[in-house]
Amino acid sequence: MDNKKRTWLENMLGFYKDSKYVSDYKREANVRSSMYMSIVLIIIEVWMIIRYIVKYMIIMPDKYEITVSSFFQYTGSYWVLLIIGLIMFVYGLLFMKGRVNKNGVSSNIFITMFAGICLIFGVYVSYGDFARDKMIICFLTMVMYVAALLIWRPYISIILLTVISVGFLYLIQNYSISKETGEPIQMGSGDQINYITFFITLTMLAISIYQQRHREAIEAEKLYKASVTDDLTGIANMHRFDEETREYANQCAMEGEDIIFLFLDIENFKTYNDQLGYKMGDEFLKKIGHMIGEVFVGDPYARQSDDHFVVLTKVDGFMDRVSLMQAKIEESKDYEGYIALKVGGCRPEGNEMVDSRRCTDRARYAVSFIKNRSDEVFREYDEKMEEKFHQREYVLNNIDKAVKNGYIHVYYQPVMDSSNEKLCGCEALVRWIDPEMGFMSPGLFIPILEESRQIHKLDRCVYEIACRDMRNSYDNGLPVVPVSLNFSRLDFELMDAVDVLEELVTTYNIPRNKFHVEITESALTSDVEGLKKDMKRFHEKGYEIWLDDFGSGYSSLNVLKDFDFDLLKIDMVFLRGFENNQNSKVILKNIINLSNELGMKTLTEGVETREAVDFLEENGCGRLQGYFFGKPMPYEEIIGKIESGEFKVSENTNRL
Ligand code: C2E
Ligand code: CA
Ligand code: CA
Repeated sequence: MDNKKRTWLENMLGFYKDSKYVSDYKREANVRSSMYMSIVLIIIEVWMIIRYIVKYMIIMPDKYEITVSSFFQYTGSYWVLLIIGLIMFVYGLLFMKGRVNKNGVSSNIFITMFAGICLIFGVYVSYGDFARDKMIICFLTMVMYVAALLIWRPYISIILLTVISVGFLYLIQNYSISKETGEPIQMGSGDQINYITFFITLTMLAISIYQQRHREAIEAEKLYKASVTDDLTGIANMHRFDEETREYANQCAMEGEDIIFLFLDIENFKTYNDQLGYKMGDEFLKKIGHMIGEVFVGDPYARQSDDHFVVLTKVDGFMDRVSLMQAKIEESKDYEGYIALKVGGCRPEGNEMVDSRRCTDRARYAVSFIKNRSDEVFREYDEKMEEKFHQREYVLNNIDKAVKNGYIHVYYQPVMDSSNEKLCGCEALVRWIDPEMGFMSPGLFIPILEESRQIHKLDRCVYEIACRDMRNSYDNGLPVVPVSLNFSRLDFELMDAVDVLEELVTTYNIPRNKFHVEITESALTSDVEGLKKDMKRFHEKGYEIWLDDFGSGYSSLNVLKDFDFDLLKIDMVFLRGFENNQNSKVILKNIINLSNELGMKTLTEGVETREAVDFLEENGCGRLQGYFFGKPMPYEEIIGKIESGEFKVSENTNRL
């Protein structure tokens, strides 16, 4: 409800309906107060019981002759209050831990009963005290308790305090009979004034505490709302989703309903954004957020990031809802191009606590299997994905550690001069040798690091190791051959690749012509201008630039026209089944010719047989790399092979 529309009186007395958050907040404050009160009550009653035992049973046992029944007769009220205090305390604990339904009215009834019993006790004891000419302290204490600590609404506090105070005054003024004289007794006028002052002060106090608590609740609600909504779409964010899923999952478990986490991804949304502008893109995301609410009625849902949404829903009929969602998106897109909904699913395992992060991550992973497959809308996370997923998680969580702790190693694969089959260089190839996972090959972790935009961390580390090894060779008078280093497309985006390498070769004092820069063909598709600039810088510094994997992907001969490479690395696909494939030979021969005519040197990868070696040599391919000469191996091993004479070093490596 809107604050401003309320009248002064309504505000003052608390005649309005609170939002769920605010009423929960106040209820929780009341339960907490009651819990504290119950502790005080427990201590007092235990004290009273001990006092009774010490006074009547230990100090003067003969005088009173206490039996079991008389013991409970005299201490009965203490026991009652003690038990009530204990019950309230336990209830408060359960409430705080979320074990009792926080939304129900049960806590209100509970606290009311507790307060009621305290008040009745205060009235009962003090009424007796008054007749024995004692003060009515117990009554005052109990009223204070209830008024100052249990705060519902100002009007309730006023009614409660008025009724109880006037009622008690009426009681003692009209029905009190002195125990000693048997005469009616009355409160003195001075005491009456004090009593009324006490009542008014207490009422004011109760109201002001209420107001304070109410303001706190409103503030907390504001903060809470800001922290749980997604800025762009106004629907829940992941924080809220986490909270809601827990409640939802508990509820479903009680009803025996199976649940599934869904991860919704809008395929090709980036293009939509690029073509229609970010504003339209944002509007579209808002619309989708809204749609999810309409389709998955009553289910928790949120925007995770970008064009990614998550939902927790019941398994029963969920595919219908997915299809409906798909249809709605199709219907509402004001865009000619391709845009599609892709959904991944993950069911929480067994009865364990539902972990929404874990499940949404898995559902997201499942989606990655149906990207760019127009025939599939939904894929559920399964056991087969499990292992891959773990590897992925492992790589992402441990890359920094691996770099820091030296789990990243560089292996060197020999490259041979085809004319004399002597060593003329090697390629630095990364290996991750992990204490936990063992040996990991780059095919496993490089795509993951590229996708998560962390590849530069690894590559920088590889370059540094290569520098260190080469420095070691120089320092120990070992033969040094040039090393080619692999650069990912993203290295040029995520770091200043030229600066990084420059800094390293300067630090380790390595000549520029001892390192070659390998760039794969697929890198040449995006940000062409930026890449050209960096290539030029590399050239100016004196590095050779090699085109890696030529012919592996969607090669375009334009690449050879537009970029300035020193050497063409012919991909190993051409050597696959080469012996029996005349076409392969024709292609290889012509690529070598083309490359030579364009003034580029050539290297063929994946050379595994004598036949291939001879063929390539005959046809003018300058360098050869492959298992025929050697697999990638550790630095010590390749040095050993050079020293033992197994690899002879070619004299003029730059000639080739
Ligand atoms: P690549 O650059 O094309 O490297 C050649 C790959 O072919 C290496 O696999 C090598 O072991 C393998 N190979 C060499 N000779 C033969 C052969 O005769 N037969 C067969 N079947 N295979 C051969 P590896 O080391 O597993 O590397 C795979 C890919 O990982 C590399 O392909 C490269 O793209 C990437 N990579 C490796 N190290 C790095 C690195 O430090 N940084 C980056 N960004 N990528 C790297
Ligand atoms: Ca390479
Ligand atoms: Ca290659």
